[in-house]
Amino acid sequence: MRAAIFHGPKDIRVETIDIPTLNPDWVLLKVHAAGVCGSDLHLYKEKTEIPISSTLGEGKYIPGHELSGEVVEIGSDVDSIEIGTRVGVEPIIGCGHCKWCNIGKYNLCVNYKLIGFQYPGGFAEYCAVPEEKCLVLPDNVSYEAGATLDCIAVAEHAIRRANIGNEDAVAIFGAGSIGLFAVQAAIAAGARKIYSIGTHDFQLEMARELGASIGIHARKEDPVERINDLTSGFGVDKVVEAVGGETTVVNDAIRILRNQGTLVVTGIFVKPIPVDLFGMLTKELTITTAWGYEHWSHRKEFEVSLDLLASGKITADRLVTHKYPLDEVNKAYETAIDKSGTESVKVQISFPD
Ligand SMILES: [Zn+2]
Ligand SMILES: [Zn+2]
Repeated sequence: MRAAIFHGPKDIRVETIDIPTLNPDWVLLKVHAAGVCGSDLHLYKEKTEIPISSTLGEGKYIPGHELSGEVVEIGSDVDSIEIGTRVGVEPIIGCGHCKWCNIGKYNLCVNYKLIGFQYPGGFAEYCAVPEEKCLVLPDNVSYEAGATLDCIAVAEHAIRRANIGNEDAVAIFGAGSIGLFAVQAAIAAGARKIYSIGTHDFQLEMARELGASIGIHARKEDPVERINDLTSGFGVDKVVEAVGGETTVVNDAIRILRNQGTLVVTGIFVKPIPVDLFGMLTKELTITTAWGYEHWSHRKEFEVSLDLLASGKITADRLVTHKYPLDEVNKAYETAIDKSGTESVKVQISFPD
């Protein structure tokens, strides 16, 4: 099969390799769509401290943890899925027996692995995945939308970690795919007002279309001043941070939260950043974080995310702005990086039927 193999920054090669063999409880998918994630871009842009090691060996991996496809072969122990089923894939695989896996928090497993990192991902014609990690896509959920479930689940987990709902006014920093899914997930949870803060006009237009009350362009105006004006100095109940990098948004969040408000951090911060703890102290703020997704009570957040898609409370098709064939994987990465030039939100590798 053809597969895109990451060999290092700016070095992804499409090569011919063997189709994966199946464990008894795994299934083989013919991949239909697989998204380029911010975490993939991080490794593509420059050398990082993150150790890269996969079943292909040291220093290389097949990306594509945001994937969907059709089941074309099943392992000998598989009994819940038939050949021909359309599925989305939950890519986090816990060890299955630690304390955290036992309570459904496989995102906190000390030894979890990811399809699209340690295991070969969806930037390939075929991909092997555990039966229990497949979610059947209803007819009204496209393969493209099904391949965004990972991003929706991350946003949904953040909304739950910050306990957003109940008429909250929420500011969301970042209007990339996580930020835009967070806008929709916050509304679905019952938020009253959403302030979407981004750095590109096209993102803010999309945020407004998806239900944000107001879009604030952080390079054209000071979001702290604007939100304090809009709330008559009271501040917002909750803040979702979906930017990461080396930004100052955590301190902006501290300045726009009301007393006893909550910030949830989802972005990847590459270096430690100074945080205004005195500002937090005098407002009695809570800072929480959201890492991946887990079980919430008896249901997986991944299943909840699929329900939100299927019911139309969350739309994904609008966010998939670009699709490229596997052979143009490098172009897909460049498009995802050059947001202002290409107006990209979610870039996917797609495979013809
Ligand atoms: Zn991702
Ligand atoms: Zn575990």
